Amino acid sequence: MSKMLKCGDLMPGCDFVAKGETEADVLKAAAEHAKKAHGLDVTPELAAKVKSAIKNA
Ligand SMILES: [Zn+2]
Repeated sequence: MSKMLKCGDLMPGCDFVAKGETEADVLKAAAEHAKKAHGLDVTPELAAKVKSAIKNA
């Protein structure tokens, strides 16, 4: 089973979807996207929000 994160769950209006085989893969993709698209560094608080928004795909 793979994992996915809809960025729009955290950043309304964003249609990016991060996918990966593991939560770590999704977190990595999401961190790169957050930096490029939103200018965000992944703080522990943001990482926790991202983790809670990751769903099974
Ligand atoms: Zn986004």
